[in-house]
Amino acid sequence: MKAVRVHDYGKPPSIDEVDAPTLDGAWDVLVDIGAAGLCRTDLHIIEGQWDRIQHPSLPYTIGHENAGWVRAVGSAVGNVQVGDAVIMHPLVTCGLCPACRVGQDSHCANALFPGINVNGGMAEVLKTNARAVVKLDDGLRPRDVAALADAGLTAYHAVRKAAPDLFPGTHAVVIGSGGLGHIGVQALASITSATITVVDRSEQALELARSIGADHTVQATSDEAVQAAVDEITGGGAHIVFDFVGEAGAEKLAPQLLRNGGSDYVIGYGGNVDLPTIDIISREINVIGNLVGTYQDLVELMTLTASGKVTLHTKVYPLDAALDAIDDLDHGRLLGRGILIPTGR
Ligand SMILES: [Zn+2]
Ligand SMILES: [Zn+2]
Repeated sequence: MKAVRVHDYGKPPSIDEVDAPTLDGAWDVLVDIGAAGLCRTDLHIIEGQWDRIQHPSLPYTIGHENAGWVRAVGSAVGNVQVGDAVIMHPLVTCGLCPACRVGQDSHCANALFPGINVNGGMAEVLKTNARAVVKLDDGLRPRDVAALADAGLTAYHAVRKAAPDLFPGTHAVVIGSGGLGHIGVQALASITSATITVVDRSEQALELARSIGADHTVQATSDEAVQAAVDEITGGGAHIVFDFVGEAGAEKLAPQLLRNGGSDYVIGYGGNVDLPTIDIISREINVIGNLVGTYQDLVELMTLTASGKVTLHTKVYPLDAALDAIDDLDHGRLLGRGILIPTGR
C-alpha cells in the first residue's frame, strides 16, 4: 500500500510502497482510510519537534486525524463490522488502566498514538483497536469528519467540560476563531445557553464566527480595547474564557477578561500563564487545561455533526498529492482543513 512516511527530520516525507498492517491482537481493527486530516502538528513532526516527547522509530507513517471503512476485525471485536464507516479516536487505549476506567482516554497509561508514535493514517490502511472506533451516522462521509478527530474533538472537549457552568445569563468569550476556535463557537451555540463573544485579529474570522453562532465579535486591535469591549458586552467580565491561541499575548490577556470566580480554559499552547497568587485567591479565578477529548466527546461531536450543527471547511487532495498539501499548509495557502483521500471513494 501507499503511505506518507517521515524518514529524516527536517526533510519532506516521501510516498512509499509498504506492506499493509495485519491483525495481530483480538481487539485489533484494520481500517481502509477514507480521509486523513492534515494538521499543523504534522508540520511540527516533520521538523522533529515531537521526537523528544514521542520518539517514534523512523521511518514511520504520519496522519492522526483519520476516518474510513472497517476492512477487518480481530476475533474479540463486536462493536463494528467489516464495511462500517468509522472515525477514529486519536488514541489507541487499553481500557484497563485507572484513567481508562474513569473515561479519561487522553490520559491512558498504555496508549499508542497512531501518526505520532506509531504508523498513522496517511496511508491506504490503518491499524487501530475496537476502543478507538466510532461508527458514523449514514449521512456522514469520512472526508467530511476526519479533521474533527483531533482539532474538533479538542475544541468540543473544552466546551463540554464548561457547559454546566454556561447556563442562561452567562457569558463565554472565545479568543481565536480559527481551525479549533470555529468548532468551539459552533459547540457553544449548540450545547450551551451562554452569550458568545468572539475575539480575533482577523475580520474574516469574525465574519465567519457571526455566521455560525457568535452573538458579539471584537476585533483584537489592542489588549486595552479588547478588555474595554468585553467588559461592556459582559457587564463586568466573562464567566468563562476559551483561549484557543495560548501564545503571542493571548495567554496574558485571557485571565484579564474574567469576572471574579471565572475560569480561563487553556486550549492553545506555547506561552506562559503568569498570575500573581494574590489575584488568584482574591478573584477566585481558575486556570483549566484541556487535552484532546474523550471517546464519549467524539461520539457526541459526531451526533452534532450528523444533525448539521457542526460543519467543517475542507480542501481535498489525493494521497499522491500529500507533499503539495503539506506545502500549501506550510505557506498559508490552505483555507480550511486539508484532507488526504487515499482510496478514491
Ligand atoms: Zn491534528
Ligand atoms: Zn488505559
